[in-house]
Amino acid sequence: MKPGWRSGDGARSARRLRTSEQLEIEELARGVNQGHGVKAPPTPDYLLADPQSYIIRHFDWERLSAATMRVEPGLWLVCLNKNHSKVRQRFSLAHEHWHILQNEAMAFQLDALDERRANHFAASLLMPSDWIFYFWEAYKGDLRRLCSRFKVSRQAMEVRLKELGLAVQGGSSIGRRADK
Ligand SMILES: [Zn+2]
Repeated sequence: MKPGWRSGDGARSARRLRTSEQLEIEELARGVNQGHGVKAPPTPDYLLADPQSYIIRHFDWERLSAATMRVEPGLWLVCLNKNHSKVRQRFSLAHEHWHILQNEAMAFQLDALDERRANHFAASLLMPSDWIFYFWEAYKGDLRRLCSRFKVSRQAMEVRLKELGLAVQGGSSIGRRADK
Protein backbone atom coordinates (compact mmCIF):
# COMPACT_ATOMS: atom_id res chain seq x y z
CA MET A 1 0.00 0.00 0.00
CA LYS A 2 1.45 3.33 -1.08
CA PRO A 3 1.30 6.44 1.06
CA GLY A 4 -1.98 8.21 0.47
CA TRP A 5 -3.75 4.98 -0.37
CA ARG A 6 -6.07 3.18 1.85
CA SER A 7 -6.94 -0.40 1.27
CA GLY A 8 -10.50 -1.67 1.22
CA ASP A 9 -9.73 -4.86 3.09
CA GLY A 10 -9.83 -3.99 6.74
CA ALA A 11 -8.79 -6.06 9.70
CA ARG A 12 -11.39 -8.34 11.18
CA SER A 13 -12.36 -8.24 14.79
CA ALA A 14 -15.00 -9.66 17.05
CA ARG A 15 -15.86 -6.16 18.29
CA ARG A 16 -19.31 -5.05 17.33
CA LEU A 17 -20.96 -1.71 16.74
CA ARG A 18 -23.27 -0.39 19.43
CA THR A 19 -26.94 -0.80 18.56
CA SER A 20 -27.55 2.95 18.73
CA GLU A 21 -24.74 3.53 16.28
CA GLN A 22 -26.07 0.84 13.97
CA LEU A 23 -29.47 2.52 13.93
CA GLU A 24 -27.89 5.90 13.28
CA ILE A 25 -26.05 4.54 10.25
CA GLU A 26 -29.23 2.81 9.03
CA GLU A 27 -31.12 6.10 9.20
CA LEU A 28 -28.37 7.96 7.38
CA ALA A 29 -28.36 5.38 4.59
CA ARG A 30 -32.16 5.37 4.40
CA GLY A 31 -32.08 9.14 3.96
CA VAL A 32 -29.88 8.78 0.87
CA ASN A 33 -32.52 6.79 -1.01
CA GLN A 34 -35.37 8.89 0.36
CA GLY A 35 -33.60 12.13 -0.46
CA HIS A 36 -33.51 11.06 -4.10
CA GLY A 37 -37.08 9.81 -4.16
CA VAL A 38 -36.00 6.18 -4.60
CA LYS A 39 -38.82 4.07 -3.20
CA ALA A 40 -37.89 0.53 -4.21
CA PRO A 41 -34.77 -1.55 -4.81
CA PRO A 42 -32.29 -1.63 -6.35
CA THR A 43 -30.49 1.40 -4.93
CA PRO A 44 -29.29 3.12 -8.13
CA ASP A 45 -25.57 3.17 -8.87
CA TYR A 46 -25.46 6.97 -8.90
CA LEU A 47 -26.29 6.97 -5.17
CA LEU A 48 -23.22 4.86 -4.41
CA ALA A 49 -20.80 7.44 -5.72
CA ASP A 50 -21.22 11.07 -6.70
CA PRO A 51 -20.41 11.13 -10.44
CA GLN A 52 -19.18 14.74 -10.09
CA SER A 53 -16.52 13.97 -7.54
CA TYR A 54 -15.64 10.30 -7.99
CA ILE A 55 -13.42 8.82 -10.66
CA ILE A 56 -13.93 5.06 -10.74
CA ARG A 57 -11.32 2.75 -12.21
CA HIS A 58 -11.06 -1.01 -12.32
CA PHE A 59 -7.96 -3.05 -11.64
CA ASP A 60 -6.89 -6.64 -12.11
CA TRP A 61 -6.23 -7.37 -8.47
CA GLU A 62 -5.96 -10.74 -6.86
CA ARG A 63 -7.84 -10.12 -3.62
CA LEU A 64 -8.03 -6.43 -2.69
CA SER A 65 -11.64 -5.21 -3.03
CA ALA A 66 -11.16 -1.46 -3.27
CA ALA A 67 -8.85 1.45 -2.57
CA THR A 68 -9.49 5.18 -2.48
CA MET A 69 -7.24 8.15 -3.01
CA ARG A 70 -7.93 11.86 -2.94
CA VAL A 71 -6.76 13.42 -6.20
CA GLU A 72 -7.51 16.98 -5.11
CA PRO A 73 -9.97 18.54 -2.69
CA GLY A 74 -13.40 17.25 -3.65
CA LEU A 75 -12.13 14.75 -6.22
CA TRP A 76 -11.66 11.09 -5.37
CA LEU A 77 -10.19 8.17 -7.24
CA VAL A 78 -11.94 4.97 -6.26
CA CYS A 79 -10.34 1.78 -7.52
CA LEU A 80 -12.32 -1.43 -7.68
CA ASN A 81 -11.36 -5.04 -8.35
CA LYS A 82 -12.54 -5.85 -11.87
CA ASN A 83 -12.43 -9.57 -11.09
CA HIS A 84 -15.20 -9.20 -8.55
CA SER A 85 -18.81 -9.51 -9.68
CA LYS A 86 -20.72 -6.31 -10.49
CA VAL A 87 -22.86 -6.74 -7.39
CA ARG A 88 -19.81 -7.15 -5.17
CA GLN A 89 -18.31 -4.02 -6.74
CA ARG A 90 -21.49 -2.15 -5.84
CA PHE A 91 -21.01 -3.13 -2.22
CA SER A 92 -17.32 -2.12 -2.30
CA LEU A 93 -18.26 1.22 -3.81
CA ALA A 94 -20.89 1.87 -1.13
CA HIS A 95 -18.29 0.89 1.49
CA GLU A 96 -15.72 3.35 0.09
CA HIS A 97 -18.47 5.98 -0.16
CA TRP A 98 -18.84 5.81 3.62
CA HIS A 99 -15.12 6.33 4.20
CA ILE A 100 -15.16 9.34 1.88
CA LEU A 101 -18.25 10.82 3.56
CA GLN A 102 -16.55 10.33 6.92
CA ASN A 103 -13.33 11.85 5.67
CA GLU A 104 -11.56 8.60 6.46
CA ALA A 105 -10.44 7.81 2.97
CA MET A 106 -7.00 9.27 3.57
CA ALA A 107 -6.47 7.68 6.96
CA PHE A 108 -3.68 5.15 6.86
CA GLN A 109 -4.96 2.91 9.55
CA LEU A 110 -8.62 2.29 10.02
CA ASP A 111 -9.54 -0.04 12.82
CA ALA A 112 -11.95 -2.92 12.63
CA LEU A 113 -14.80 -0.77 13.92
CA ASP A 114 -14.32 1.76 11.11
CA GLU A 115 -14.56 -1.13 8.68
CA ARG A 116 -17.70 -2.43 10.37
CA ARG A 117 -19.30 0.98 10.12
CA ALA A 118 -18.46 1.15 6.41
CA ASN A 119 -19.87 -2.33 5.84
CA HIS A 120 -22.97 -1.53 7.83
CA PHE A 121 -23.51 1.64 5.83
CA ALA A 122 -23.07 -0.23 2.54
CA ALA A 123 -25.51 -2.94 3.64
CA SER A 124 -28.03 -0.35 4.85
CA LEU A 125 -27.75 1.70 1.67
CA LEU A 126 -28.16 -1.28 -0.66
CA MET A 127 -30.60 -3.21 1.53
CA PRO A 128 -32.75 -0.83 3.64
CA SER A 129 -34.50 -2.87 6.32
CA ASP A 130 -38.05 -1.84 5.35
CA TRP A 131 -37.43 -2.88 1.74
CA ILE A 132 -35.94 -6.17 2.88
CA PHE A 133 -38.91 -6.98 5.12
CA TYR A 134 -41.33 -6.13 2.31
CA PHE A 135 -39.58 -8.18 -0.38
CA TRP A 136 -38.81 -11.02 2.00
CA GLU A 137 -42.58 -11.45 2.32
CA ALA A 138 -43.32 -10.77 -1.32
CA TYR A 139 -40.71 -13.27 -2.54
CA LYS A 140 -41.40 -15.74 0.27
CA GLY A 141 -37.77 -15.62 1.31
CA ASP A 142 -36.43 -16.61 -2.11
CA LEU A 143 -32.77 -15.72 -1.79
CA ARG A 144 -32.04 -15.69 -5.51
CA ARG A 145 -34.88 -13.31 -6.30
CA LEU A 146 -33.94 -11.06 -3.39
CA CYS A 147 -30.32 -10.81 -4.60
CA SER A 148 -31.39 -10.05 -8.12
CA ARG A 149 -33.94 -7.44 -7.01
CA PHE A 150 -31.49 -5.63 -4.70
CA LYS A 151 -28.45 -6.18 -6.97
CA VAL A 152 -26.31 -7.57 -4.19
CA SER A 153 -24.26 -10.71 -3.77
CA ARG A 154 -25.66 -13.77 -2.11
CA GLN A 155 -23.14 -13.38 0.70
CA ALA A 156 -24.11 -9.77 1.38
CA MET A 157 -27.80 -10.69 1.36
CA GLU A 158 -27.29 -13.60 3.74
CA VAL A 159 -25.42 -11.42 6.22
CA ARG A 160 -28.11 -8.76 6.02
CA LEU A 161 -30.99 -11.21 6.45
CA LYS A 162 -29.34 -12.73 9.48
CA GLU A 163 -28.75 -9.27 10.93
CA LEU A 164 -32.45 -8.46 10.52
CA GLY A 165 -33.47 -11.68 12.17
CA LEU A 166 -34.60 -13.35 8.95
CA ALA A 167 -32.85 -16.67 9.33
CA VAL A 168 -31.12 -18.27 6.42
CA GLN A 169 -30.62 -22.00 6.74
CA GLY A 170 -28.09 -24.13 4.94
CA GLY A 171 -27.17 -21.36 2.51
CA SER A 172 -30.78 -20.98 1.43
CA SER A 173 -33.69 -19.14 2.92
CA ILE A 174 -36.20 -21.03 4.98
CA GLY A 175 -38.79 -22.99 3.11
CA ARG A 176 -36.98 -22.88 -0.23
CA ARG A 177 -34.55 -25.25 -1.82
CA ALA A 178 -30.98 -24.11 -2.18
CA ASP A 179 -30.12 -22.94 -5.68
CA LYS A 180 -27.13 -25.22 -5.92
ZN1 LIG B 1 -13.01 0.09 4.45
